Amino acid sequence: MKAIAIVPGTRALHHVERPEPRIETPHQLKLQVLQVGICGTDREEGSAGRSEAPPGARDLVIGHELLGTVVETGSAITRFRKGDFAVFTVRRGCGTCLPCAMNRSDMCTTGRYRERGIDGLDGYQAEFVVDDEQYAVNIPRVIAPVGVLTEPLSIVEKAIDEAVRLQFARLPAAMATPMWLYDRPCLVAGLGPIGLLAAMVLRLRGARVFGLDIVDAESARPRWLESIGGHYLNARAVPPDRIRQEAGPMMFVFEAAGAPRLAFNLLDALDYNGVYVLTGIPSSEQQLQIPAGELIRGMVLSNQAMIGSVNASRGHFQMAVDDLLNAHYRWPGHIAKLITHRFPVEEVERAVHEHTPDEIKTIIEWRSLPAPRGG
Ligand code: BGC
Repeated sequence: MKAIAIVPGTRALHHVERPEPRIETPHQLKLQVLQVGICGTDREEGSAGRSEAPPGARDLVIGHELLGTVVETGSAITRFRKGDFAVFTVRRGCGTCLPCAMNRSDMCTTGRYRERGIDGLDGYQAEFVVDDEQYAVNIPRVIAPVGVLTEPLSIVEKAIDEAVRLQFARLPAAMATPMWLYDRPCLVAGLGPIGLLAAMVLRLRGARVFGLDIVDAESARPRWLESIGGHYLNARAVPPDRIRQEAGPMMFVFEAAGAPRLAFNLLDALDYNGVYVLTGIPSSEQQLQIPAGELIRGMVLSNQAMIGSVNASRGHFQMAVDDLLNAHYRWPGHIAKLITHRFPVEEVERAVHEHTPDEIKTIIEWRSLPAPRGG
């Protein structure tokens, strides 16, 4: 079968032939790949950055944002049927630590996890993929056209869920319930797909959302944000140290820009008892001079929490599915507008290396989505 691979440490994406994977245990299912999203990590891999081939292999099949359709099920599979839409999660456990033993490899404590399409395991840019049912998530037919957004949305779900749980655990009961985000001012920094999906989840939770970026207010990303009720702040006009005056202090900051200087400067916008989640992964080293004393003083005296969040568990994928359904009914047809660029497999190099200002999410289309049943 056809697949797209990279030799880690090089920029050479190439088309390879791989044996078609086969179901080997009763608990596995086989998907025919329909769509695979391209994200910053794929672009980093395609620029000689972070990635690792499977043990003994020279190259790695890339891709971790999947949408597939079930073509075959092992004899013990009960939750999936042929023709269902499904995705697989990304990370596989180290086999030794407690979180991995509890199927929470997103919280692995040894660092010896592997990630499909990124770190030591072939990914999803291929015609077929096989994996265990425990890593599979069912995508309801009605959201199949946006099902490829499930993986990036799972990253967002984990980060927001952690922030809410943290606030619920540490603030006095009168201040934080599981509905804590309702009517809270929240800042999303970096309006790429992760930032816009974060804005979407925060709007679904009733938050007042401000999105920060440096693009023209009339361009695709700010417009998408505004159409779900968010407010755009252009960082060229409202630098981080002015956000507080312009929009008020933020109870929650969701960082999705991967820009270290901006990340530290945004602490200035955080309110008393606020929580700040970092999700952007900077691709290069940046030495900074920061007013460290002032930043730490501010955090301590204001009870602020700053956490990093990576990857997502199967439960967060399920939350992503729920929110894609919620968003589908709240803003019909709107979520699909996040997918701005579609490329055939033959043009994967262009998809990975070209990055136009009007782009939100780029996907590779392996096959067209099957027509609705009975329609
Ligand atoms: C992926 C995550 C992964 C992370 C680190 C992100 O692009 O979405 O699943 O854990 O990269 O490799």
